[in-house]
Amino acid sequence: MADVTLRNVNKRFGAVEAVRDLSLTANDGEFLVLLGPSGAGKTTTLRLITGLERPDTGSVMIDGRDVTHDPPGSRDIAFVFQQYSLYPHLTVYDNLAFPLRSPARRVAEPTIRKRVEQTAELLHIASKLNNRATRLSGGEMQRVAIGRALVRDPSIYLMDEPLSSLDAKLRAELRLELKRIQIELGATILYVTHDQVEAMTMASRIGVIRDGQLLQLGTPREIYESPTSSYVASRLGTPQINFLPARLLPDVAVPPGTETVGIRTEHLQLAARNGGQMVGRVHRVEHLGEQNHIHLDYKGETLVTLADPHQPLQAGQEVELHLVRPLCFDRAGQRIAAAV
Ligand code: ATP
Repeated sequence: MADVTLRNVNKRFGAVEAVRDLSLTANDGEFLVLLGPSGAGKTTTLRLITGLERPDTGSVMIDGRDVTHDPPGSRDIAFVFQQYSLYPHLTVYDNLAFPLRSPARRVAEPTIRKRVEQTAELLHIASKLNNRATRLSGGEMQRVAIGRALVRDPSIYLMDEPLSSLDAKLRAELRLELKRIQIELGATILYVTHDQVEAMTMASRIGVIRDGQLLQLGTPREIYESPTSSYVASRLGTPQINFLPARLLPDVAVPPGTETVGIRTEHLQLAARNGGQMVGRVHRVEHLGEQNHIHLDYKGETLVTLADPHQPLQAGQEVELHLVRPLCFDRAGQRIAAAV
């Protein structure tokens, strides 16, 4: 495997700055996830790495080699797209064998057979090798699409929302599979998504991007627990982190300059009688089975917290709240100091 580095990369399309001064390394054997909303520049970043786009300024390095001006074919990268991009009239076997059969590669048929069979085993589609691609379920098709990347044994995998067209159950299943395969192969994967669950569950590190800029890079835990801005804080966590104007929390100690306080739902706790710093009123109780989401009114703002489903809470009821770990943000949304 290999590492890939972007160094101060800029890419503009007319008036749009798709990628802005982006510097980042996916280390050898790392599962690096770029997390960002639509239009953040995720796909453009991957296309810059493949060579399908050229940066206006900056460089792309693979294993320490500057490939910025090398043609796409020479970079030994496999790309898995959101769409399956299979050949419908071919069998699963032939779809998997296809990347190895290009005249330039000249891989011998016995070697092809071995690689296809190994890949099919790894993806649990060995029993489908003789099926036509059109006869597969969505999840199987996407496994084949991933298999077409794996079979080539490239030095780096780039994946562009490969699970987004699948239903929730298959997505959850393939998330686990992809992570298992990545660990088994020691693969370097740069994966882009707007799905925070994919980022949290698969990434060794997450890079949060917005408007073509990398806002924060860190382990899922670092990004979740120590976001550098309110925007990053809002990208991870379900239900979303609560934000309150600091002036509404006179009894909570915050660093000077704090305009907004971020409170994760698990850090807003229902306190025993007279034990809270705040008093709110239950507005709505959402039952989710293993836990309830409690929507509260607090000084005209809405807050969400979690509660045990056995806790008897009803709309209209007054509750005391205890705030465990407030995150402080300044006027511009930047985090101030450590948590208090
Ligand atoms: P999505 O999740 O919707 O795929 P993304 O994060 O992958 O979004 P990009 O596709 O990289 O975002 O696009 C970043 C910005 O660059 C967008 O504003 C997009 O409209 C613009 N853009 C991308 N490619 C081109 C192009 N070939 N010509 C003009 N503008 C482009």
